Amino acid sequence: MTNTGMGRVPLHADAQPDEVVAAVREWVAENLPPAWRDAARGGTSAIRAARTREDYEAWYPVFGQSGLVAPNWPIAYGGLGLSIDAARVVETELHQYNLGRLNPLGLNLCAPALFEHGNEEQRCRFLPPIVRNEEVWCQLFSEPDAGSDLASLSTRAERDGEDWIVTGRKLWTTWAHRSDFGVLLARTDPEMPKRAGITYFLLDLRQPGVEIRPLRDIGGGSEFNEVVLDGARIVDSQRVGAIGDGWKVANATLSGERQMVSGSGSGGVDRIGGSGVPSLVAQLAQNPRGDDVMRQEMAALYAEDRIRQWTNQRVRAGLKTGRPPGPESSIGKVHQGSLNQRVQIMATRLLGVHAMAWHSDEPGYATSLPYEVSGMLRSRANTIEGGTTEVNKNIIGERVLGLPREPDPYREVPWREVPRS
Ligand SMILES: Cc1cc2nc3c(=O)[nH]c(=O)nc-3n(C[C@H](O)[C@H](O)[C@H](O)COP(=O)(O)OP(=O)(O)OC[C@H]3O[C@@H](n4cnc5c(N)ncnc54)[C@H](O)[C@@H]3O)c2cc1C
Repeated sequence: MTNTGMGRVPLHADAQPDEVVAAVREWVAENLPPAWRDAARGGTSAIRAARTREDYEAWYPVFGQSGLVAPNWPIAYGGLGLSIDAARVVETELHQYNLGRLNPLGLNLCAPALFEHGNEEQRCRFLPPIVRNEEVWCQLFSEPDAGSDLASLSTRAERDGEDWIVTGRKLWTTWAHRSDFGVLLARTDPEMPKRAGITYFLLDLRQPGVEIRPLRDIGGGSEFNEVVLDGARIVDSQRVGAIGDGWKVANATLSGERQMVSGSGSGGVDRIGGSGVPSLVAQLAQNPRGDDVMRQEMAALYAEDRIRQWTNQRVRAGLKTGRPPGPESSIGKVHQGSLNQRVQIMATRLLGVHAMAWHSDEPGYATSLPYEVSGMLRSRANTIEGGTTEVNKNIIGERVLGLPREPDPYREVPWREVPRS
């Protein structure tokens, strides 16, 4: 079997595990730069030192064309059409090379909505460029007055012939400045109760009616934005699901998001940013600052992290039965958010005084913050993004445990009559 450079890995749908392993190894030998292959033996930090983000993005089309990014997706959508078990073999083989999937919001947020509620034309048009990172996606859901209570959103979409015209403001839109498209929730009928009058669209961001304003984050970067929509146009063929059914479609995206943030999504890398527990264990073994208390804490984090991984494996196994990610994904989201914050705090403790003061030109500190510090600061958002911990606990209570619903006096009231600030 010969791999075809920039082409798809030649595997058939019912390939056996040994065939999958052989094909992936051959692809790695032919397509992964040798320095990256060698660095894999030294773990995550060696890989980080061997390749910059720019290197990785420049090489990524090779990965994107291979079908290995989403191996269980049909070939027509950019995958290889493999079974979930065969796709797992792919993931296991590639794991050591830390080939993170680019375009995570396309893969984990847009794609589930298209799979569950899109039509065939939309899937064939949008999924392959998502896999290949040729069209980058963001999520235009939250607004200044609609975060946890997302269904109260005010952005309007009004019909104009074959188009919709969109007006409103979206907030905290991660990577909007680097994106080509966004999944958008907009109100199409203000006379209906808040959940019933929403429609789900695929918005082209590169047009005059869209203004993207960067917001500064706690680490000094600006990964998220305010997006002002003032007469932005969307052709009706880029509406997903029926008019007024956007809340149902949004739930596919929100479940996918919670899965991504819990580490059980299709990211390919089983965690959500910052330092990984195994590399911290290795660091502690050689660290003179490590005392018995720290070792005990690390052992507890290690055990919890293993439980998290097994839970994620169970979630993925559930997908094998064809069950879409449901409200249970909130359980992993709540646990992973808190665990990752504790892991990243441990990373900064291991760094000692370097976590508080550093020279920006010190070797290894390519940006102004040490990796461990920016990882720790970034992890503060883990219990907010993708729905806050409190809101996810409500979802678990109501939709997993079947407890009584949180009272909402405005549930059945027309949106226009709901009081807003
Ligand atoms: C780093 C980051 C990236 C993000 N990226 C995106 C993105 O790309 N696209 C996007 O659309 N959004 C994004 N968000 C927005 C995110 O989804 C919202 O911040 C989140 O849903 C909370 O909404 P809010 O900020 O308006 O807080 P609020 O809803 O105002 O909540 C404030 C506090 O009240 C609590 N609370 C609210 N309602 C309840 C309730 N019913 N029961 C108990 N407690 C409650 C919350 O838990 C929270 O502690 C991002 C957020 C962050 C931090």
